[in-house]
Amino acid sequence: MSSRTNHRKRVLSGMRSTGKLHLGNYVGALDNWVRMQDQFDCYFFVADWHALTTDYADTSRIKQNSVEVLLDWLAAGLDPERCTMFIQSHVPEHAELHLLFSMITPLGWLERVPTYKEQRENIAEKDLGTYGFLGYPVLQAADILIYKGNFVPVGEDQVPHVELTREIARRFTLIYGSRNNVFPEPQPLLTPAAKLPGTDGRKMSKSYGNTIMLTDTEPVVRQKLKTMVTDPARVRRSDPGNPDVCPVGDLHKIFSDPSTIAKVNEGCRSAGIGCIECKGWAADALVSILNPMQERRKKYEDNPRLAWDILEAGTARARKVAGSTMNEVRESMGLTQNFEGRTNAKGSE
Ligand code: SF4
Repeated sequence: MSSRTNHRKRVLSGMRSTGKLHLGNYVGALDNWVRMQDQFDCYFFVADWHALTTDYADTSRIKQNSVEVLLDWLAAGLDPERCTMFIQSHVPEHAELHLLFSMITPLGWLERVPTYKEQRENIAEKDLGTYGFLGYPVLQAADILIYKGNFVPVGEDQVPHVELTREIARRFTLIYGSRNNVFPEPQPLLTPAAKLPGTDGRKMSKSYGNTIMLTDTEPVVRQKLKTMVTDPARVRRSDPGNPDVCPVGDLHKIFSDPSTIAKVNEGCRSAGIGCIECKGWAADALVSILNPMQERRKKYEDNPRLAWDILEAGTARARKVAGSTMNEVRESMGLTQNFEGRTNAKGSE
């Protein structure tokens, strides 16, 4: 794999180990990852340590949740021959780099990260008053820089995190003045965020209980669609509607073929079709995407060892790269473990 991917720019991205994924995760990130694996040298990790920054108390499902995420990745088409997949905590070098970065990152940088303030104010039900939560952008910086990632696919709201990663990289170089620049500065790769509503019309999210899961069977998908909210203007079958303000219309725009989208547009606005018929077409489109995913997933569910082997191979590849970066970091900081060699970071022997 390495000879084939050496010339490619490297992409780093992770997903929290939240258990099974939903269509919002697919549209917001995973679908894009599947396409990127042929363009870039991709490293994708299940971020179990990041999950601990907001949910540290109950770890009973953390391993299973990580595996579920991996199974959904494989189901969606991530291919171990074309990308590297692993679980963050299986590569402890991330933690070492996080520790070293935490020494040089000013508190003010972390306190001004927009999501930090926002989440502390808005998420009352979780204990976010921990060092781990404040420091998670530092861990993110370690996750990215340890692989010398060139690009990080992110949504608009995550751009400040990538900027912080770049600042940490610059500060490291400034302080330890390494002869070689250890860390290239990664660039954000903006992911166009398709609007994916949940069944209640709000953003699809597990915390709203409005999700369609990648593992939902056809009857479940059809049932969820049946109760999905529509354009409120269509009270009666004879009332014309507008797919642009209807969550089902949004699903069509993402998943249906152009001729179905045209039929929906025309039929909804003229009251030529009913919502039940329209929802049936949306369900058809979803099922045709989910069925092949579920077939792929089944292969790994029936033989979990296969998935674990993929993880182990990915971990080995990731640790090789991470280990080599850490050698450079220790060298730059005068922390080498060799008896001989430099004794301080500035290069005196
Ligand atoms: S016909 Fe379709 S797009 Fe129009 S309101 Fe009903 S469900 Fe929404």
